[in-house]
Amino acid sequence: MNINRNILPILTLFLLLVGCVKKDESHSGKLKVLCTTSMIADTAKIIGGDDIILNGLMGAGVDPHLYKASEGDVGKLVEADIIFYNGLHLEGKMVSVFERMDEKKVRTIPLGDALDKKRLIESEHFASNFDPHVWFSVQNWIIMTTRMKVVLSEKDPMNADQYEERTAKYIAELKTLQSWIVSQVSTLPPSKRILVTAHDAFEYFGKEYGFKVVGLQGLSTATEAGVRDVQKISAFIIENNLNAIFVESSIPLRTVQSLQASVRSKKHEVKIGGTLFSDALGDTDSLEGTYIGMYRHNVQTIISALK
Ligand SMILES: [Zn+2]
Repeated sequence: MNINRNILPILTLFLLLVGCVKKDESHSGKLKVLCTTSMIADTAKIIGGDDIILNGLMGAGVDPHLYKASEGDVGKLVEADIIFYNGLHLEGKMVSVFERMDEKKVRTIPLGDALDKKRLIESEHFASNFDPHVWFSVQNWIIMTTRMKVVLSEKDPMNADQYEERTAKYIAELKTLQSWIVSQVSTLPPSKRILVTAHDAFEYFGKEYGFKVVGLQGLSTATEAGVRDVQKISAFIIENNLNAIFVESSIPLRTVQSLQASVRSKKHEVKIGGTLFSDALGDTDSLEGTYIGMYRHNVQTIISALK
C-alpha cells in the first residue's frame, strides 16, 4: 500500500508530462495559419479543419479598413507559416506590416489576387484602383477558397487530400447558397432593388443580383460622409420612394441615423431595415458567424425590408 501511495503522484506526474509532450508533438507539425478578416478565417477553418492551427485577427464588428496591428498581433503574425488576407487594399493600415512579414519569410497571400481583373469592379476612389469587397460575389469567394486550398496543399502536401475533399464539399455548399440567393432575389421586383447602406460594401452583390447600391461613406470607411452626401442621398431616397435603409455591423449606427434624420426633415419616412454584415461576420457562435450564415442573414434582411 505504501509503495502504491508513493508511486501514484509520480505516475500522475509522468502521465501529465507524457500528455504535454504528446500534445506538443501533435501541434508541432501543423501549419500555423493566420487570417485577417473573419470571412477568411471562417473559410480557413472549414478548409484547414484540424490539420492547421488557426488564428484570426479581426473578430465580429471589426472594421478592416481602419484596423491597425497591435503589439500582440505582431507576435501572431511573425509566428505564422502562412498569412491569408483579402488584399486590394482592404486592410489599408496593414500594408507595411505585410511587407515586413514578407522579409521575415512568412508567406503572405492576398486572396483577392486570385481574381482575374475582369472580375473586379474598378474604382478610381480606392488605393488599389479596385473595389476590395470581393467576397460579396459568391463566385469570387469560390475562386479565393480554391486559391487557399492550393496554398495549403503546397505548404502541407501530406494533408492535400483532406484540403481537396473539404474544398469540394464547401464549394458545393457555396453553389447551393448562390442558387438560394437567386431564388430569394427573384421575389423582389427589379424596381425595388435599391440598397442604401452605411458604406459602399455591396457593389459586387449589386452587380451580380441587379441591385442599385448607394453607400453613405465611400468604399473605405476612412472617409467620413459629408453633409452634401447626406443631402444628396436623402433626396435620392425620397425620389425613389424607398421604404428602408440599412446599418452595418462594423460601422457606427450614427452614419445611417443621420441619413434617416435628413429624410425625416423633408417630411418623409424611411425605416432602418436591419443590420447587414458587410466587412465582418457576426459572433463566432452565431448563425451570422459563418460566411454562408452571414449571406443568408443579409439577403433575408434586405428582401423582407424592401418588399
Ligand atoms: Zn468596406
